[in-house]
Amino acid sequence: MFDLILRNCNLPDGRRGMDIGIRDGRIAAVEAALSGEAGEVIDAAGQLVTPPFVDAHFHMDATLSYGLPRVNQSGTLLEGIALWGELKPLLTQEALVERALAYCDWAVAKGLLAIRSHVDVCDPRLLAVEALLHVKDKVRPYLDLQLVAFPQDGVLRSPGALDNLKRALDMGVDVVGGIPHFERTMADGAESVRILCELAAERGLPVDMHCDESDDPLSRHIETLAFHAQRLGLQGRVTGSHLTSMHSMDNYYVSKLLPLMAEAGVAAVANPLINITLQGRHDTYPKRRGMTRVPELLTAGIPVAFGHDCVMDPWYSLGSADMLEVAAMGLHVAQMTSQDGMRACFAAVTAAPARILGLDGYGLEPGCRGDLVLLQAVDPVEALRLRATRLLVLRGGRVVARSPAAVAALALPGRPSCVDFTHRS
Ligand SMILES: [Zn+2]
Repeated sequence: MFDLILRNCNLPDGRRGMDIGIRDGRIAAVEAALSGEAGEVIDAAGQLVTPPFVDAHFHMDATLSYGLPRVNQSGTLLEGIALWGELKPLLTQEALVERALAYCDWAVAKGLLAIRSHVDVCDPRLLAVEALLHVKDKVRPYLDLQLVAFPQDGVLRSPGALDNLKRALDMGVDVVGGIPHFERTMADGAESVRILCELAAERGLPVDMHCDESDDPLSRHIETLAFHAQRLGLQGRVTGSHLTSMHSMDNYYVSKLLPLMAEAGVAAVANPLINITLQGRHDTYPKRRGMTRVPELLTAGIPVAFGHDCVMDPWYSLGSADMLEVAAMGLHVAQMTSQDGMRACFAAVTAAPARILGLDGYGLEPGCRGDLVLLQAVDPVEALRLRATRLLVLRGGRVVARSPAAVAALALPGRPSCVDFTHRS
């Protein structure tokens, strides 16, 4: 006896017409023509059923603050950081919690059920840390929120930041963050990487740093991060986020860097929407794209995820918690238009970030959590093309969000009044 059977599902790995049985909140069976009784049966009608979307890189303390206290006029990274500095003293815990909870609602509606969010620890009050720890508890029934202690103004450059960061970890923040390229010198940047990796090793925590988020071809902090990951035995627990300098680095140097990252078990997170808008701003033409070398990282065996990074905050006035929009941008910027490339882009917002976050019970195997999304698309490529509607979102086998199927209503003489948006019969 199952609690729920989803019949006639297409799966991201290409299997079609599969049935998924769920019992006690977990997937109990995945097979064709599954027999057995069920409390409820849902017909997926040959549409794609996937484990939920996962965002490997986000800033929930800043989200939905667009326009506070003013709009970023230039749209640049540096004005964004300055603007965040203006907003910080005005933040209240209530407003932070309210905005974060509103964003989590958006996320669930889009089938995004796990988020790794950086939280700024440079404010000695640690207001944002307290607020997001509260939010983490509150959303736990429907969304996994993982927090990174992020010294936005530089752990060495900003007085007291290292102590604040340690306090944030003591309070229960899960991951050690950093921003070596924002320290005053290359040497300070490298020193910050050493200090933070040693702190993570001491406390048995993962590391996820904003790393080389610039167009500087000589920025080398990812090399230092990989070196310390290997030296301290942190393989599989370290992530380099952004890595945009890699776009501009010398090709010979990158050919040496990628094997080092692979050996050190360092993962990479690109943030396509943000990288394509914030990088290359000092260029005239040709103008660099700035996103890290995603296909080359994947070929080297390095796990790569795409993150949303920002939604309606000092750095980015757009965004909607739609990881398919993030993946579609990544696909275009990296020219990953091969069949394998497009599927890798879908994996970069599902399975790959789930692995980077170390999510327990993620996937479609029996025993995995009954966290699933039914999309209005037959396969991952169509889902990317259409930014497909999330028809149903399930958490632990229970429906937590649903959206009506997208249809286009035509009012042309002699044409049907309502056609399937996907143009399939
Ligand atoms: Zn970020």
